[in-house]
Amino acid sequence: MNKSEFIKNTALEIGFDACGIAKADFLEEDAFFLKSWLGNNFHGEMSYLERNFAKRTDPRIIVEGCKSVIVTLLNYYPSQFQNPNVPKIAKYAYSKIDYHVIIKEKLFLLENKIIAKYGEACFNKNQQHRFVDSAPVLERRWAERAGLGWIGRNKMLINPMLGSFCFIGILMINAELDYDEPIQNRCGTCRKCLDACPTNALTKEKGLDSRKCISYQTIEKKGKISEDIRPKLSGYIYGCDICNDVCPWNKTRTKATQTAELEASDKIINWKFQNWENLNEEEFYRIFKHSAIQRAGFNKLKENIMT
Ligand code: SF4
Ligand code: SF4
Repeated sequence: MNKSEFIKNTALEIGFDACGIAKADFLEEDAFFLKSWLGNNFHGEMSYLERNFAKRTDPRIIVEGCKSVIVTLLNYYPSQFQNPNVPKIAKYAYSKIDYHVIIKEKLFLLENKIIAKYGEACFNKNQQHRFVDSAPVLERRWAERAGLGWIGRNKMLINPMLGSFCFIGILMINAELDYDEPIQNRCGTCRKCLDACPTNALTKEKGLDSRKCISYQTIEKKGKISEDIRPKLSGYIYGCDICNDVCPWNKTRTKATQTAELEASDKIINWKFQNWENLNEEEFYRIFKHSAIQRAGFNKLKENIMT
């Protein structure tokens, strides 16, 4: 078994659902696209996306000596769902424990197993080299380059076996490996996600206009939800799954997560409308102490519930 095979097999043993490897390189097309996307102000108040432009488009600037990008997927599709007609939470935030913590632990385990077999020199310990949904890494593009799927019209990474309800974890390694071939985009003539998005946030050519996206409006945007978006929230108070739910690649292929730590919180599954309506600050910080929902903060979530 060569080094790349060892890494992929070990990633699966640790519990990741898929693993691929891409050569660390400059993302020229993304650099061009990102400039125009930022120029259009599609990032709204997320000014952190304007920083670290060079790092965002070249992993070799993030981690000195980085040669390869190991990309992992972890399926988070829940086995249970919220009651109908309650304020909706995006499925990625169903679990009691924040996914960042779960994936970082798994990446740490993978790194340690690689070090045990191939030595410390594989990683630049002086720089952050494990990434989960964290700037400045274009995770979906790396997953695509690592042969794990394609970026669909909903801007999600779609894996042909797992669909798009997957977290992406990245490990940057200072070793040359065998690289996977990207697979072809299989969206074809479908435009279900474009048609289903209630706010028209998905543009065909220019990317996602975050300012219109329910996910941005209910989590990232400081202050109140924009007047024109309020009537289109479709019941969501944290994130939005609409463009994932309608995708045919999720309808037929998605299975429930096998990761026990990602199982849904009983509160999210069982709460009724009144539980959300009566949620107070003390309960919020106690019940959702380790959850991704903390990101919005109590005041923002409460306001979303009351909108
Ligand atoms: S997450 Fe919701 S609002 Fe955002 S692009 Fe998808 S469907 Fe539209
Ligand atoms: S809904 Fe259709 S167009 Fe949108 S990402 Fe899925 S396959 Fe592609």
